[in-house]
Amino acid sequence: MKKILSIQFLLVTFLVMLRIDLQAQQSAPKKEQSKQPKLLVGIIVDQMRYDYIFRYWEKFSSGGFKRLVEKGFFCRNANYNYVPTYTGPGHASVFTGSYPAVHGIIANEWYDKITGKLKYCTEDENVESVGTTNNSGKMSPKNMLVTTIGDELRLNSLQKSKVIAVSLKDRASILPAGHSANAAYWFDGKTGNFISSTHYMNQLPEWLTAFNNQKNAEVYLKKGWKTILPDSLYTESTKDDQEYELSPNGKEKPVFPYDYTKQLNEKNFEIIRATPHGNSITKDLAIAALKGEQLGKGKSTDMLCISFSSTDYIGHSFGPKSIEIEDTYLRLDKDLQEFFTMLDSYVGNGNYLLFLTADHGAAEVPAYLKQNKIPSGLVDENKIELNLKAHLFSLYGDSLVLNCSNQQIFLNHSKIAEKKIRLEIIQQEVANFLITQDEVFQTYTAETMKNESFSRNNFKELLQNGFHFKRCGDVLFRYPVAYFDGVVKKGTTHGAEFSYDTHVPLFFMGCGIKPGSTVDAVDITDVAPTISMLLNIPYPNGCVGKPITTLLERK
Ligand SMILES: [Zn+2]
Repeated sequence: MKKILSIQFLLVTFLVMLRIDLQAQQSAPKKEQSKQPKLLVGIIVDQMRYDYIFRYWEKFSSGGFKRLVEKGFFCRNANYNYVPTYTGPGHASVFTGSYPAVHGIIANEWYDKITGKLKYCTEDENVESVGTTNNSGKMSPKNMLVTTIGDELRLNSLQKSKVIAVSLKDRASILPAGHSANAAYWFDGKTGNFISSTHYMNQLPEWLTAFNNQKNAEVYLKKGWKTILPDSLYTESTKDDQEYELSPNGKEKPVFPYDYTKQLNEKNFEIIRATPHGNSITKDLAIAALKGEQLGKGKSTDMLCISFSSTDYIGHSFGPKSIEIEDTYLRLDKDLQEFFTMLDSYVGNGNYLLFLTADHGAAEVPAYLKQNKIPSGLVDENKIELNLKAHLFSLYGDSLVLNCSNQQIFLNHSKIAEKKIRLEIIQQEVANFLITQDEVFQTYTAETMKNESFSRNNFKELLQNGFHFKRCGDVLFRYPVAYFDGVVKKGTTHGAEFSYDTHVPLFFMGCGIKPGSTVDAVDITDVAPTISMLLNIPYPNGCVGKPITTLLERK
């Protein structure tokens, strides 16, 4: 009997061990999973709406956006999960897997409660410009409170991974790169050169000096801007001349062709931002950085962050249905095709992992919606602020408002304390008054943001995710769908919690990615942890997102 029991015991032990061994084999990294890309490329297309992929599909080349759809993994239901949907927060959130409540980039610029001044998201008085004598380089990521994918790559590889970022916009280069990046480069319109700051280096690398010496901005601007297709083929856009389009550089009408002789004579290269050449020069710089820094040639995974900004400048001026924006995307598609082909030959097809998304979408131009009988409009935010100040003055003998920015009211706390009134009472008074204003849709006090917990699929949750306790104001107010602050009477903008601003294309392509798509809901904060999983590195340290399982678990 004893012998039978011990045989049974041995058999059970054997089976348990076999099972543990099998589980270990299943959970161990498979060979293909553990193949590490030589290069990670993170691309942002500034202000790219989700619908552009389909709108311009027939006219795209085979190797640009179509390649992303056909060879990559397409997340068709990716949305920003906070407000405001602006450029600074957008770039920070993609690369940190976090949102403004945590990473602290609450807007492009915000009222700084300590200094009482507006603070630009990447300004840094303690660093100097590199590559220019003006102040365009006094920038760093110090206002971002967490790490990026690039920071984690650098920490994980003991600084063997190289991380480089390029963009026309300083914030669109600096925030993706992170704190410990080797370099972030951005455009200086006064010189036409790409520059950096002493946060990264003391002088520009030779390859960049050589690139700047080519005077690329001048070469591009001399070409002017003509449509690449005959006028009659822009069937996805409204007619060229629309009264709601913002005519650039003093031109009488917002119509093709555009000429930049005046700016060239004045040596003012800023104008390149609002032309498709701004994207092309960014692509050229990305290729120069790839070669100059030998990215993807080392033993550790390198990273190149690229943000194409001209889509945003042009989108703001002309709106989503303009020939200008259509032509810009057709040209960007060609730039992407050239860049992907370059990656194939330089790093090797299958050796790089790439993702592409946008930092926010864009609203339709209100005048265009009105033409189609759809409710929309511009808000006079100055008037709202003046009305509020007058109201508070009538109640308390003082306006008590220090600043109104990013749809937030900042109150004078010391004056409120002097008057011995509880802050919560004034906050509620402000919220109650603001909601009486025609164009105000919702108001929330900071106390509500701090103390309530809002649920998923709720605009309030988006506000809360964007609410940083120390940096945000006392009262938040929101506009109705399709309404925005009409500082500029023409063109369009972004920043809202609605799908036209939150819904963006999101693609992954290359090493470790099986082609496919999903309509599952993906938050923008899921991008970074998904990349971390693919690279087997830690999440960025403020990460709130989750890996995209439909992408990672594809067989
Ligand atoms: Zn943007």
